[in-house]
Amino acid sequence: MTMKACVLEEWGGPLSVETVPEPDPGPGDVRIDVRACGVTRTIENAIQGGLADDPALTPRIPGHECAGIVDAVGDDVDGVTPGDRVVAYFYLSCGDCSACRRGETNRCLDFGGWVGVNCDGAYAEKAVIPAENVLSLPEATSFVEGAVAADGLATPLHICRRTGVDDTDTVVVIGAAGRVGIHLSQLAAARGARVLAADIDDDRLAHVDRVTGDAVQPIDAREDRFGERLREATPTDRGPTVVVDTVGDVATLGAAWDALGMGGQVVTLTTHHQRSFAPPLKEFVVKEGALLGSRYATKAEVVDAAKLFATERISPVVTERIGLEEVPAAHERIRDGESHGMIVLEP
Ligand SMILES: [Zn+2]
Repeated sequence: MTMKACVLEEWGGPLSVETVPEPDPGPGDVRIDVRACGVTRTIENAIQGGLADDPALTPRIPGHECAGIVDAVGDDVDGVTPGDRVVAYFYLSCGDCSACRRGETNRCLDFGGWVGVNCDGAYAEKAVIPAENVLSLPEATSFVEGAVAADGLATPLHICRRTGVDDTDTVVVIGAAGRVGIHLSQLAAARGARVLAADIDDDRLAHVDRVTGDAVQPIDAREDRFGERLREATPTDRGPTVVVDTVGDVATLGAAWDALGMGGQVVTLTTHHQRSFAPPLKEFVVKEGALLGSRYATKAEVVDAAKLFATERISPVVTERIGLEEVPAAHERIRDGESHGMIVLEP
């Protein structure tokens, strides 16, 4: 049996759509009939070698933000059977370390890498991944919603839980038009927060305005008075209580930090090696501020994210649905910064 897949011959090289042998699940693995997979900036970063660049890991089929139906299981697999609707977990966490035993699978101390980097992923009709990396997809959640939940909503859910976002908060989202930013804006608003959704381009700001409700206010991060605008947009000018940075622009982050209110928390998700951000220590004390990093989400949060689409006032923001043949061109658009929202592959 053969299948179509999008294959990367070397890190940083082009993607090509090829006909390859259909993989069989080995011991501990399951095979998924892929129904939906996000085509995203995170995967673009992986393709460019931003997560791992060992040539021994190529050729590789990328893609991790996927949902589908289990169609075969290998030996030694318990609890997963053919016909199960599933969503994939990105991290190859060990399951045995102290963090994994606490359920903090995103903090695994014996980290094995990533689906789509250290093993083949879901830019294909079928994907074989460890059984430990498939999680149950609720019946009421569609496959496309599952693909968005896998990272696009699970990551925002992790942020909201870490910071305890509720109806007393004003949340600033920097890079609000991206898939994490837009779903974070929606989720924070659903938890009752006021949201200031910052981005840097008229199309992206218009997109944010179109797909979010009244509780989300688009705000232009290019403005000279960006920090003052943030403060003015909060109740009694006291400043935002949570700032989430998905971009890594130090000037924008600095302006948001300056505007931060009492007890405020700044969360960064960016992984640029070269960027540093170090406010004077006194400022942490004066407003009892906190600077946090946020790392993906736990397995439980991916499952909860998938449930949220079925139960809360959140809907997936998917801007394009494409086939496998269109994936290489979609990545070129992501690379050129021409894409916002979220592209979903339906192989
Ligand atoms: Zn572990």
